Amino acid sequence: MRIPCPLCGDRDHREFTYKGAAVALDRPGNSDWSDDWDSYIHLRDNPAGDTDEMWWHGAGCGGWLVVTRNTVTHEVKAARMAADVKGAGA
Ligand SMILES: [Zn+2]
Repeated sequence: MRIPCPLCGDRDHREFTYKGAAVALDRPGNSDWSDDWDSYIHLRDNPAGDTDEMWWHGAGCGGWLVVTRNTVTHEVKAARMAADVKGAGA
């Protein structure tokens, strides 16, 4: 799989580290352990199809990217710097 880093160009995915879905999660309020915290830490969607993901280019520019990837075919459709994407982050 190749990822088109906006700064480095088209690179092998082994230069990157996957860090999860590129979504802003609602963190539960300050409280003792609760079902809300259990869900926040352990439960994630597992969509089939186009998904925005956070990838770190550790063997390249060190930048954080939002990569749009089809989770069924692994086709990479786009890659943008996370700083340029509103609401990105886990
Ligand atoms: Zn890069």
